[in-house]
Amino acid sequence: MAQTTPSTPFRNLVGGKLLDAVGGATREIVNPATGATIATVPEGDGADVQRAVEAALAARREWNATTPGERATALLKLADTMDAATDELAQLESANTGKPLPMAKDEVTASADLLRFFAGAARTLEGKSAGEYIKGYTSMVRREPIGIVAGIAPWNYPLNMAAWKMGPALAAGNVQILKPAEGTPLSLLRFAELAHASGALPDGALGVVTGDGPNVGAKLVENRAFGLVSLTGDVRTGKTIARAAADNLTRLHLELGGKAPIVVLDDADLEQTVAAIRVAGYWNSGQDCTAGTRIIATRGVYDRLLERLVPAIESLKVGDPAEGDRIEMGPVISAKQQQRAFGFLERATAAGARIVTGGGGDAIGPAGGSFVAPTLVADVAQDSEIVQDEVFGPVVTIQRVDDYEQALAYANDSRYGLAASVFTESVGRAMDAARQLQFGCVWVNDHLTPITSEMPHGGFKESGYGKDMSTYSLEDYTQIKHVAVRIGL
Ligand code: NAD
Repeated sequence: MAQTTPSTPFRNLVGGKLLDAVGGATREIVNPATGATIATVPEGDGADVQRAVEAALAARREWNATTPGERATALLKLADTMDAATDELAQLESANTGKPLPMAKDEVTASADLLRFFAGAARTLEGKSAGEYIKGYTSMVRREPIGIVAGIAPWNYPLNMAAWKMGPALAAGNVQILKPAEGTPLSLLRFAELAHASGALPDGALGVVTGDGPNVGAKLVENRAFGLVSLTGDVRTGKTIARAAADNLTRLHLELGGKAPIVVLDDADLEQTVAAIRVAGYWNSGQDCTAGTRIIATRGVYDRLLERLVPAIESLKVGDPAEGDRIEMGPVISAKQQQRAFGFLERATAAGARIVTGGGGDAIGPAGGSFVAPTLVADVAQDSEIVQDEVFGPVVTIQRVDDYEQALAYANDSRYGLAASVFTESVGRAMDAARQLQFGCVWVNDHLTPITSEMPHGGFKESGYGKDMSTYSLEDYTQIKHVAVRIGL
């Protein structure tokens, strides 16, 4: 850690100051590849939320009054700050999450790109044209910031998910308090410290408060100061927050879980399909809300696909990312997550499923690491737990179906609706599948890789509502007002 330790201890950013928790509590942060403690961070509670809200209230007027051009300049400075610290932020992210360093670097670069996108987007807000829709009055639409917004982030892409919230919130003129997941706050805390030092934002425009869901997250949701709470997390957490937010009718932006199908049709290019699944199912140890977790293959391609896919999965290099850049997949985030994945596999095999490859993980990597081998499970029923529920680990199922219609029916038979893909050489089939698949994103002949700042990301059904990235997200972080002026005609 010597290389990655920031110049000051990890502290929260509140009102332009780097502060310990009000109560002085701390939490130890662990590297999941080794089980070793790598840092301590403040462990906040309701008092920390209150302190951050007061600082945000004080900053709100100044930031709300900035012009889009000024906000763009600030976001560009934040992006430059992030880029300049890519190596340090990526090393922190890799140590805190167990993901390979090159992937962590890509995420920092993508996060800076996203801040740049929102710097530009800040200057392009659109609306209906002003006009005389009622005789004697001129009507116009103002698109305004919501005020104070909260962002609650998950642990799978800690800095990137925080950036997805920070970009649109600040671009729209809101002040924001971010809460990272309790186990993975290091990259965001360090970035907040660097952002503060850069002077890009007025004091209090961006706050970061660490702590767990019940003691900090829930306190953010129940605080009336917030006009919007944005969560990226589990469906269950989304539902808990929605119930709590109902008391104040606080607006929500919910990016929740997924169980993405990969539909493979008889005419698919198998080389392309196998290469895509090797990434889709196992990138970030499968801890991705859009991970391809359910392969649904039509009868004519199933055996040929399986024959090629198994060696491709078995070729993945799994281990402690500290071993070097040859490692393609690290541990899962914690021992708890590892045991959760093993539990899914035990119950699936007890119900008749067959583990084609993988299944274990205890023997991989350093003692104390939380590894799950890249796993493929066959002979699974459509209504089984392993097909219907999110494992959030490197576990993919494969199902054989009779035809295209059954493939789409299986794909759509899910309470989730975040992402899906279809592999076919037929343009017509691809377009028809894109229309019929009930997901917020459909990829054709690829999966996971085509994500970009310009395009919306967000779910249907229990995967939540609201969009991240793109100008649609910027709209979600604003509210519109009708102003009618009597013009005396
Ligand atoms: P989680 O729901 O356990 O935690 C997410 C955040 O919510 C954390 O910061 C946590 O502290 C907080 N939280 C927990 N309980 C809370 C409460 N009662 N009130 C307020 N805040 C609370 O999710 P996770 O395990 O960190 O992340 C994994 C989940 O995130 C998966 O389900 C994954 O699919 C989802 N995810 C979705 C997207 C997307 O874009 N849709 C992206 C990444 C991850």
